[in-house]
Amino acid sequence: MKVPLLDLKSQYKTIKDDVLKIAEEVFESQYFILGPRVDALEKEIAEYCSTRHAVGVSSGTDGLLLSLMTADIGHEDSVITTAYTFFATAGSIVRTGARPVFVDIDPDTYNISPEWVEKAIADMSEQERAKLKAIIPVYLYGQCADMDPILKIAEKYNLIVIEDAAQAIGSEYRNRRAGSMGDFGCFSFFPSKNLGAFGDGGIVTTNSDDLYDKLRILRVHGSSPKYYHKVIGGNFRLDAFQASIVSLKLKHLDKWTKKRQENAGKYRTLFTDAGLEDIVKLPVERESRHIYNQFVITLKDKRDELRRFLNDAGIGVEIYYPIPMHLQECFSYLNYKKANFPVAEHAASHTLAIPVYPELSEDQQEYVVQKIKEFYSAADSPQ
Ligand SMILES: *Cc1c(COP(=O)(O)O)cnc(C)c1O
Repeated sequence: MKVPLLDLKSQYKTIKDDVLKIAEEVFESQYFILGPRVDALEKEIAEYCSTRHAVGVSSGTDGLLLSLMTADIGHEDSVITTAYTFFATAGSIVRTGARPVFVDIDPDTYNISPEWVEKAIADMSEQERAKLKAIIPVYLYGQCADMDPILKIAEKYNLIVIEDAAQAIGSEYRNRRAGSMGDFGCFSFFPSKNLGAFGDGGIVTTNSDDLYDKLRILRVHGSSPKYYHKVIGGNFRLDAFQASIVSLKLKHLDKWTKKRQENAGKYRTLFTDAGLEDIVKLPVERESRHIYNQFVITLKDKRDELRRFLNDAGIGVEIYYPIPMHLQECFSYLNYKKANFPVAEHAASHTLAIPVYPELSEDQQEYVVQKIKEFYSAADSPQ
């Protein structure tokens, strides 16, 4: 049996007629960049995320960069974030000229740990603290970080909060939607995200009228009015075609999310029935709405061997992520060392994402769990 990590083709089949109709409309209009289709998507996403505004951008990464630029983060500044995330979070900080300050994660959710944030700030010299301007919590795998303590810390130290919600559209923390809690919420429409475009795309949410105006100006090279530049921005624009694909898919998103949540529930039953609880730790669902962009299990041992075994059995799995930020070669100038963030390092060497996409069948899920059981039974048996 084949079980891919994600099956976008089977999702496409269910919306193909609508997609082709939209494609024809956009191509006939020959209106490709920003415009009414992007405006419409911005209204829909703002409503979906319970925010006042949304600004369509060229990618999730550009959303982060644009938010940092809008917050005037740059040289001399520092930004605190998690050591365990997709590279774009940390890369965007550095691209503004600022310095990332990494902290360790919560061992259950793999999200940034508010305790470690507090401790990192407490350990800073007065000078270092004066440079600290923002915090970027990441909602890893589709579950919000523990935001109440984070927002409290942000208020105490006067920090801008940028939610990296690239993996978490529609997730909730204590009944608040991802993207509505900080100053900015950044989302990605990369095809493998829960709400994916047919190419790159993203969106930034905000509740502030001022930040909204500034985001829109910096999105087009800082131009306002056209060809007059008081500030330097970039080309962070979203395509009309991508916007209309995302609008179309947004109508299906809650249904797809529900399927992902049901699949997560099915895995819990299957793993429990398989008696693997000593070897496989299942995702800890702590917040009110986890949208399962990934279903990530933590293995007691032999993660890499299991990964190869599952690949050989036709099962798509992936490691998100094999190297924490503080150990990335490009950040060696920050002088972090191995063992600085043991929880992140443990996650990097013991976790594995298994398929959880909406179209996954029960047979496929049973096959995945059966193969994992088979691997550990063989591994445990005396040679
Ligand atoms: C995908 C992702 C991004 C970047 O989004 P792109 O649209 O690929 O640029 C940023 N942060 C996290 C946590 C992500 O998962």
